[in-house]
Amino acid sequence: KRNPEGDAGYLEDDSTKFFARKVADHYSARTNQTLEEREASPIIHLKKLNNWIKSVLVQLYARRGDAVLDLACGKGGDLIKWDKAKVGYYVGIDIAEGSIEDCRTRYNGDADHHQRRKKFSFPARLICGDCYEVRLDKVLADDAPFDICSCQFAMHYSWSTEARARRALANVSALLRPGGTFIGTMPDANVIIKKLREAEGLVIGNSVYWIRFDEELSDKKFKSSKPFGIKYKFHLEDAVDCPEWIVPFHVFKSLAEEYDLELVFVKNSHEFVHEYMKKPEYVELMRRLGALGDGNQDQSTLSPEEWEVAYLYLAFVLKKRGQPDRT
Ligand code: SAM
Repeated sequence: KRNPEGDAGYLEDDSTKFFARKVADHYSARTNQTLEEREASPIIHLKKLNNWIKSVLVQLYARRGDAVLDLACGKGGDLIKWDKAKVGYYVGIDIAEGSIEDCRTRYNGDADHHQRRKKFSFPARLICGDCYEVRLDKVLADDAPFDICSCQFAMHYSWSTEARARRALANVSALLRPGGTFIGTMPDANVIIKKLREAEGLVIGNSVYWIRFDEELSDKKFKSSKPFGIKYKFHLEDAVDCPEWIVPFHVFKSLAEEYDLELVFVKNSHEFVHEYMKKPEYVELMRRLGALGDGNQDQSTLSPEEWEVAYLYLAFVLKKRGQPDRT
């Protein structure tokens, strides 16, 4: 259905809106944890590993002075990573009102539950909105173009319909400067589907997560030219409990190309860890974050169950076509 407003996009049906709200309400309701609660989490090392992966992506691609667009920024858990990269400007958008509130509190430095810290060195704009529905080039006309766009653990929420997936990629493309970078993390559909096939049922999981499909997922649907709206319920202990959608990576890649976003690399989290743990600076970062331990097999090592959850995700980097990077 085309929107009578003209080029503003597609009208969403009630069920699409309903599920977007469900996701928003889920994240909005998640309260901040105290440091003690966080450390006691059954997936604390997975959280630390995911922070390490995001930090490596930021360190690899952000440059001093960059303008950053953080789509689905959540509670601002990556603000410190961007600060360390000495970026010049930050815009964060999230659909969950509660998360944007927490993000604002964290940015303003009051009542930071993790650590007392100096103010962030970059100005920021924090917005509550649906990144996969709204035309952000209009909202952010005065802030664009951005040097780098980040969408961490959230791109898959756009895959409920083709219109939303297209809106997500159109937004990224319209707001990035030519040669700008798009970094992100999302579930690895190939791994999820492989596990589902092996399980010969509608559910996969272990003691810290489960994924449940409502109906049989045929190969035909997964490999079809329009594999949108393949919904499952994802439960991750102490983190997530909401509907999500399968993003077949080959479709993500070719749709992104339509919006002038070219794949630089995609790596499953396991591969990502193996590759970047060859570099001493990232080994040191991992040690500081305490995700994989320091080789002594102490308690700061992921459990096999957490390591299996890590395998469900991938990291990607895309580049906006156009003139090369600034020097
Ligand atoms: N990027 C943050 C991080 O890595 O810490 C948050 C990740 S959290 C797993 C997923 C986030 O996606 C939630 O904050 C949720 O509110 C947000 N989200 C989901 N759908 C969205 C949408 N349509 N527009 C904007 N944000 C969305």
